[in-house]
Amino acid sequence: MREVTTGHALRAWLRARRAEGRQVGFVPTMGALHEGHLHLVDEARRRADVTVASIFVNPLQFGAGEDLVRYPRPLERDRLLASGRGVDALFLPDVGEMYPPGAATRVVPGPAADRWEGAARPGHFAGVLTVVAKLFHIVQPDVACFGQKDWQQAALVRQMVRDLDFSLEVVVVPTVREPDGLAMSSRNAYLDATDRAAAGSIPAALRALVARYRAGETDPAALVAAARAVLDVRPEVAAEYIAVVDPGTLEPVAPARDDAVAVLAARVGPTRLIDNVILGQGIG
Ligand code: AMP
Repeated sequence: MREVTTGHALRAWLRARRAEGRQVGFVPTMGALHEGHLHLVDEARRRADVTVASIFVNPLQFGAGEDLVRYPRPLERDRLLASGRGVDALFLPDVGEMYPPGAATRVVPGPAADRWEGAARPGHFAGVLTVVAKLFHIVQPDVACFGQKDWQQAALVRQMVRDLDFSLEVVVVPTVREPDGLAMSSRNAYLDATDRAAAGSIPAALRALVARYRAGETDPAALVAAARAVLDVRPEVAAEYIAVVDPGTLEPVAPARDDAVAVLAARVGPTRLIDNVILGQGIG
């Protein structure tokens, strides 16, 4: 596996690969890699000849008082995981490489960014889309893989690709979960044993919501109540939002339908976690 720290060097290497007729797959991450990230790598490898992954903890998408400084950065482990899974080039830019002094331009996300994660984290999606646009320009992938776990992010990336004429395919990969159903996340490392046990109620809440839907309930308020009832018995877990939304616009939908997505954010002790489920699919 090649490691590259500058956009210039990565572009040069990729130019040579493209000249050989190879298709490029791309997996952007913030590192602290887990099986969720590695499923994105698997998918990129299935769909392209050369796989690039990036690790960049993007300061632009963190709000004041968020976990930018303490975000885990286990680089040596990430290297081993990425190379073991067949990543061809690992892009490891530093902050100065991505945002040289004077960098000021931002991507303005569509209105789907105003709700849920965007409401809880002002500026978050402008930061995400700005870095993703820059990475897309550097890598110029044929296909880029994102996780369903961050549904709103994937929807906004899709919209940016459409609206700003990026020439690539966005693939959304199903959420990879721990045995108790908890969505894998780099932030799960923040959970102590009590909070980790309590966090299992998040997928349980989404399962209860889907069970109610499968039983014929289509009133979003009733579906959300079914999820809340599961979280309410765990004092460590405080729901921030639970909603049944349109998969593209993220607007609440009523009645619920198969392609709608139940999105959820909760604090488990001091840790903020998100998850979602497509009503017609459920959690495996
Ligand atoms: P992050 O490093 O948290 O920015 O995530 C990088 C990419 O991995 C994003 O597209 C996430 O949606 C995706 N991802 C994170 N966790 C999971 C998971 N449990 N299953 C599938 N994809 C994931």
